Amino acid sequence: MTSPAKTNLLGLQRAALETFVAQLGSKPFRARQLLNWIYKRGEASIANMTDLAKDFRAQLSECAQIRTPEIVTMQHSSDGTRKWKLSADSSQAFEMVFIPEKERGTLCISSQVGCMLDCSFCSTAQQGFNRNLTTAEIVGQVWLAKKELANFYETRAAGGNDRIVTNVVLMGMGEPLANFRNVVPAVRILMDDYGFDLSRRRVTLSTSGLVPQIYKLAEETNVALAVSLHAPDDELRSELVPINRKHPIAELLDACWHYIDEQNGRSVTFEYVMLDGVNDSPAQARALAALLKGHPAKVNLIPFNPFPGTRYQRSPQAAILKFRDELIQRGVLATIRRTRGDDIDAACGQLAGKVIDRTTVRLGNKTFGVAVQQ
Ligand code: SAH
Repeated sequence: MTSPAKTNLLGLQRAALETFVAQLGSKPFRARQLLNWIYKRGEASIANMTDLAKDFRAQLSECAQIRTPEIVTMQHSSDGTRKWKLSADSSQAFEMVFIPEKERGTLCISSQVGCMLDCSFCSTAQQGFNRNLTTAEIVGQVWLAKKELANFYETRAAGGNDRIVTNVVLMGMGEPLANFRNVVPAVRILMDDYGFDLSRRRVTLSTSGLVPQIYKLAEETNVALAVSLHAPDDELRSELVPINRKHPIAELLDACWHYIDEQNGRSVTFEYVMLDGVNDSPAQARALAALLKGHPAKVNLIPFNPFPGTRYQRSPQAAILKFRDELIQRGVLATIRRTRGDDIDAACGQLAGKVIDRTTVRLGNKTFGVAVQQ
């Protein structure tokens, strides 16, 4: 039985877990044993953690548990992509997506129920914002996905199930840097040797451009950064990504170059959604190249994924290829993201979940009134 009164061990960083076991009168190495069971072996039952003394297991079970979000539904795309709807609590749902490829398996996780940023081309924005996910709910997605996929692929051999999820991207619902307090510990657990042990190249955090938090992030982690740029000038970007009115492009790029320097030459990836007739002209590609010139930046072009009620259309393939070539000719590395899982609304920008409470959120100077969807 899960009980909110018990401490959730999932989501506690190593030091916090050491303090927790110390309070129970145990040695710090017990914390490392627990971490091994939780993250490496995917064990949720304290009773099954057989190298812990029986008394300690009994004592721990009284006050602690491993509690993950619950699965509401799972959908399976014809291309192998899977999408899970998870429940945060009785009325709130959020989503995660697994994208299998030949050489890797990428899990796209959410950081908030809904989103407050109101980007005009994103379906999550239409859902409004309800709340931040906790650290346990963020890492719990990875824990659950590994378990689910191991059952599916029947590969959970004695050595564990480590090879299934090779990459994690915080590109699901929400703005990760608007939930800084819970996201940073989650990212640390993803990369910690005693956690999911993913290398920093395999964990990517995507942001719409919360500039002060990018500077803060540079002090706290070395996670790979993806930045949703989507336009080469402030007028258009403010229309597509309203946070641009608060943090315009020049400020955002300064923060990105700072992040790269702080993280020893790491490159930042810029995401650029391809919207037909809006931001996809060769002249806009040239303007984008001029902005990024001289910096180790890469551009990832994302074909727009439509959703009901949107006023945008995806750029034709020829326009996307031309845009990419304009960038490459000017020395900017550019790739085109392959669309996956769109038949089950699992592609970028199609994650919707379900937000029920009406909430009005203040972000900077702007008050966002949030729509209600049942
Ligand atoms: N809030 C974060 C994570 C969002 S999702 C951010 O803004 O970066 C990850 C990427 O998908 C972002 O670049 C986002 O702008 C993009 N995206 C959103 N809606 C989309 C859509 N309908 N089609 C294609 N990409 C979309």
